Amino acid sequence: MLNIVLFGPPGSGKGTQAKFLEEKYQTPQISTGDLFRYNLKNETELGALVKSYMDKGHLVPDEVTTNMLIDHLDNNPNTNGYIFDGYPRTTAQAEALDKILAEKYDNEVSITLALVVDDEILVERLLDRGKTSGRADDIDEKIIRDRITEYYEKTAIVAEHYKKQGKWIEIDGVGSIDEITEKLNTAIREVL
Ligand code: ADP
Repeated sequence: MLNIVLFGPPGSGKGTQAKFLEEKYQTPQISTGDLFRYNLKNETELGALVKSYMDKGHLVPDEVTTNMLIDHLDNNPNTNGYIFDGYPRTTAQAEALDKILAEKYDNEVSITLALVVDDEILVERLLDRGKTSGRADDIDEKIIRDRITEYYEKTAIVAEHYKKQGKWIEIDGVGSIDEITEKLNTAIREVL
């Protein structure tokens, strides 16, 4: 299996790059943000539970997020592997992912690719995306900045988890989409 964790702050390009990698390696993208938005849109019980967190740009509690991920994996088995986009976002989630991959597939994260982008570029990109995405959390600059703050307070530390495992690679996330895809592919080739 090839299990890629795509890491980086909101607006760093994880979703865009996940689409290319999904196609190339036949490893489905799993975006916890997309799964939550699907639940919001369809007004499910889970959607009602997570709405207040998402509206504020805060992280959804770990247990809720991890249970949703487990359900999704159970419904979408794939032996080639997965691209995790937006999960894990806390150390508890990183530990949960290790356990899930070990127990379900006798496997592990192959590589963590962290996209590095300066904060002010992130804000610009997200405001720009908000003009067309219709995502409420991309329209309000305060919510955007709160998401970036959540990233530094709770998510950035996850780097330590993967550094300890020797699975942490930083990639400059500023440049053309193609250039960045190429850099990701170069890093992935090393673990194939
Ligand atoms: P972005 O990376 O642009 O902030 P996402 O689509 O990944 O957007 O996530 C949108 C929102 O969904 C987050 O602000 C958060 O509220 C929630 N969310 C997504 N993934 C997670 C996660 N792994 N843990 C907790 N909350 C999450």
